[in-house]
Amino acid sequence: TSATTARDPQIFDLIQQERQRQLTGLELIASENFTSAAVREAVGSVLTNKYAEGYPGKRWYGGCEVVDQVELLAIDRAKQLFGAAWANVQPHSGSSANLAVYGALLEPGDTVLGMDLSHGGHLTHGSPVNFSGLRYKIVGYQVDRDTERLDMDLVRKLAHEHQPKMIIAGASAYSRTIDFAAFRAIADEVGALLFADIAHIAGLVAAGLHPSPLPHAHVVASTTHKTLRGPRSGLLLSNDLDIAAKLDRAIFPGHQGGPLEHVIAGKAVAFWEALQPEFKEYSAQVIKNAQALAAEFQAKGYRVVSGGTDNHLLVLDLRPQGLNGTKATKLLDAAHITISKSTLPYDTEKILHGGGIRLGTPAVTTRGMVEADMRTVADLIDRALQGQDVQAEVHAFASRFPLP
Ligand code: PLP
Repeated sequence: TSATTARDPQIFDLIQQERQRQLTGLELIASENFTSAAVREAVGSVLTNKYAEGYPGKRWYGGCEVVDQVELLAIDRAKQLFGAAWANVQPHSGSSANLAVYGALLEPGDTVLGMDLSHGGHLTHGSPVNFSGLRYKIVGYQVDRDTERLDMDLVRKLAHEHQPKMIIAGASAYSRTIDFAAFRAIADEVGALLFADIAHIAGLVAAGLHPSPLPHAHVVASTTHKTLRGPRSGLLLSNDLDIAAKLDRAIFPGHQGGPLEHVIAGKAVAFWEALQPEFKEYSAQVIKNAQALAAEFQAKGYRVVSGGTDNHLLVLDLRPQGLNGTKATKLLDAAHITISKSTLPYDTEKILHGGGIRLGTPAVTTRGMVEADMRTVADLIDRALQGQDVQAEVHAFASRFPLP
């Protein structure tokens, strides 16, 4: 075989190893999921060969008649799925979508009010090492110390005090329902724009199981690979067509060149899947599983941040167990249970370690697990955290649930 027809043995061996890891391990990272074979086929298709700078009907390259239809389908389905007047399906990732939001609507140095990272916010909501924190003046809001839920009185107080140009509603490690209407009311009081980042909860919003930000936010950004179960990518939505025009320009030519039409096709497939009735059942099961998992841990004496969950994730405070996020990750990695370490609201551990872990159910639910299986999952995690060797049990248990 020639160099162009032979398969690179090293990379394909590693892909096989990764497939095996995914099959035999327990995947509880709240931001991960397993895509359908159809989504992966689209992402691995010949569409990757095509340059298509611009937008459907307005390209800088010839030969775009097919990819124009791909992108138009993705846009139409995104609009239908979220009930939005406008969608841009070109952001390469959640961070790229957020970069475009800031770029379209703010000037460097403008004030932005967002959720503190240590309370559940995302890197792009103002981390000092991220473009957001480097380029803009960020003010953080925190959750209530007792309830560990969003404190809308504090958000209002900070908004009046700092007069932000934009308020961000959305998080990476927050297990409770977000009241987008309350955020909009505060934004209107101070003349700020409301930006909803639904990267984590997009699938729940699409399924109608979390209130939609679309009636309230000036702009909505998301990833497509978490609860939404599409390819690793980003998405922008809005009902305000003047803001939409600015966002289109911010994506191209503002911050990106050629769109990834193969990934856009994968997103179109995922949106189609999310429009089917089965996706609502799946998403309802994701929430039921997260609530069952939280209850199992509480029955074992663990402290669940905010006392439970309304969505796909929960955060465990492991300080009472004498652990922190780093130590727990190491113990669970050895058992082939993958989780992410997490800071806690008002954490007493170093940020580097975090006082706990974040667990999510989107991936295990895709594999077909239900509430009764969460007892086994909690039991395996509990014993792994106590230092027991449960790897063989994890493999035997996980292998019973097929990957798509
Ligand atoms: N916004 C939120 C709330 C997130 O949780 C994430 C991902 O973790 C992102 C944005 C960024 O997405 P990406 O990793 O695709 O850049």
